[in-house]
Amino acid sequence: MKKKKNRKQLPEVICPYCGKKAVLRPASYLYGEKRIFTPETMFYVCSGYPDCNAYVSANQKNHRPLGIMADGELRNLRIQTHRALREIWTQGYMTKNSTYHWLSGKLALPEKETHVAMFSTYRCRETIRLANELLEERKEMEKKKQKGKPKGETKSHDNESHGTRYVSASGL
Ligand SMILES: [Zn+2]
Repeated sequence: MKKKKNRKQLPEVICPYCGKKAVLRPASYLYGEKRIFTPETMFYVCSGYPDCNAYVSANQKNHRPLGIMADGELRNLRIQTHRALREIWTQGYMTKNSTYHWLSGKLALPEKETHVAMFSTYRCRETIRLANELLEERKEMEKKKQKGKPKGETKSHDNESHGTRYVSASGL
């Protein structure tokens, strides 16, 4: 099914914290003259801002929200979540695609919903826990390898083991 949506017709975004409508605003509305974002960057900002500090960025072209609105605490947590995940591929344990594929399996979420920008506090915490667990495991494995393989070590598990490289079509 192809959605034929009018570009100008913006989705109605309701703040999940206070129930007020969110309004599309330029980055400068939130960040003033600080050039953290390009001037074209837009956000859905709660109309109760700044009393309610919830917002989410919008797609630059079609202005659809790029996730679910978050308050300061959740935004921070999402940054930490991204950081924990990034560690997996910067350490070379998995590719970025495989990492998200692995995560969607662990969280039992469809891949199209496995975006940190859509995550609640609970999902962020769960993701950080899982990522750290995996990192610990891999570090342990490396330590063992460095100590030299004890003879008689059995071949590591089957294909389902964590090291499997998944081919993922998702655009992550
Ligand atoms: Zn709000």
